[in-house]
Amino acid sequence: MNGLECPQCGAVRIVKNGHAHTGKQRYLCRICGHQFTLKPSWHRVSEATVALVDRLLTERISHRGICRVTGVSRSWFRLHLKQLGRSVPHGVDDPMSPAKKA
Ligand SMILES: [Zn+2]
Repeated sequence: MNGLECPQCGAVRIVKNGHAHTGKQRYLCRICGHQFTLKPSWHRVSEATVALVDRLLTERISHRGICRVTGVSRSWFRLHLKQLGRSVPHGVDDPMSPAKKA
């Protein structure tokens, strides 16, 4: 048992089924034949972690630092900022972010 559940039928008879072109592990449901990959990691960020991220955002901590401390991915973090509707403040230690968006 690998703890996986078919997203389509909820069965737990899941076997590995090669890799997607992105290199991700693919899985196959033995019950309904549905093929899937695991959800992106940002789906698994817990509410407590989100709360922590939000709290750290109010401090003058670099975005990279927040990701390091909370363990969230940069892509999740960017998405989260977008969802907050918050513009990324300037002057933080974040050379990866685009300079300015119109
Ligand atoms: Zn299934």
